[in-house]
Amino acid sequence: MKSKASERQGSTAADCGPSIAGLVDELNTLKSKHLYRKFRVLDSMRGVRAKIERRDILLFCSNDYLGLSQHPEIIDALTRSARDFGAGAGASRLISGSSAPVRRLEEALAAFKQKERALVFASGYAANIGTISALCGKEDVVVVDKLNHASVVDGCRLSGASIRVYPHGDMSYLEKILKQSGRFRRRLIVTDSLFSMDGDLAPLPEIVRLKERYGAWLMVDEAHGTGVFGARGRGVAEHFGVEGTVDISMGTLSKAIGTMGGFIAGDGEMIDYLINRSRSFIFSTALPPAIAAASLQSVELITRDASLRKALWRNIERLAGGLKSLRLIGNNDLSPILPAIVGEEGKALRFSEQLFESGFLVPAVRYPTVPKGKARLRFSCSAAHCETDIDRLIEVLGKILGAVKG
Ligand SMILES: *Cc1c(COP(=O)(O)O)cnc(C)c1O
Repeated sequence: MKSKASERQGSTAADCGPSIAGLVDELNTLKSKHLYRKFRVLDSMRGVRAKIERRDILLFCSNDYLGLSQHPEIIDALTRSARDFGAGAGASRLISGSSAPVRRLEEALAAFKQKERALVFASGYAANIGTISALCGKEDVVVVDKLNHASVVDGCRLSGASIRVYPHGDMSYLEKILKQSGRFRRRLIVTDSLFSMDGDLAPLPEIVRLKERYGAWLMVDEAHGTGVFGARGRGVAEHFGVEGTVDISMGTLSKAIGTMGGFIAGDGEMIDYLINRSRSFIFSTALPPAIAAASLQSVELITRDASLRKALWRNIERLAGGLKSLRLIGNNDLSPILPAIVGEEGKALRFSEQLFESGFLVPAVRYPTVPKGKARLRFSCSAAHCETDIDRLIEVLGKILGAVKG
């Protein structure tokens, strides 16, 4: 009761005991700066159509880029496997959690990513923190792009390695760091392939040239690239033709693949090392077999059928064209992530609120996910959108912008 009432009225520190008063003060500060976060509950979901707070809402924010989370073949695979194996894995991988579906999925992911072996983790977050912290330690240096995902940042911190950060996409700065870091045992460059808040691509061909020149290792986070980029949907490394030189290829099952989990693909020995040393792999329950079976079906579908990927790219072009005509975006790289930088946090929040009132869910991404004063509306596109969904969004955006100006 109490918490409901305080949510409505805005609680004061005096309402609480001394132990949590500090937390309430901090939350109130966040609210006053338009940086307070809350989630909305979906009562149902069909593709990109959801029921939220009793309204019909079109999602322009999901990472389910190919709409595979609702594909009948994948749901069938999930339910069949759940009948055989149950709903959960029951144990971690090195105990009794290494089910046949997980093994088959790992073989399929290795083949898909053109690597010797692959290893599945409970999430992409777990894959990143568990891999970077296993491969690097005090004697090593990790070299990272300023805008890498939080899970890469956390993995670097956890590793205890020295951390060197280069400004987003700045290749001469990356080279400078590599030149000055010869004394370290290992040098690991880590980069997102498609940056999740800016929607732009890492200059992988340049990074590959530098990593070879200085003998560094390269880990690429293809969370948003997998299933979306490349002629066969293998990712941004395929798109640039540099797959063979990526030492450690990371991906998630939770975005275009449409399920849940993360993975690492690479050399057999490197994978063997992770099995023995990666704490997030060893000390966490295995992926449920049914999720593995569904993911396997999804990888097979992506490999066999390019039609969903083509539909996604048609939608990306339509949405990008519309956003550009409203001057909400400039000459962005084309990707399923199209951010419109609004600037001030309160303004982005109001814009997002107005869109929700009109039936669209588009999040206002704010600090600390992006720098202060660079708040943005982050539009994501899916193969599950139809042309009229996109056209309606653009029309509503035009009206909102017109009202602001008028
Ligand atoms: C989403 C994301 C992750 C984490 O993946 P989960 O499977 O959601 O834990 C890692 N890296 C990047 C770039 C991401 O966007």
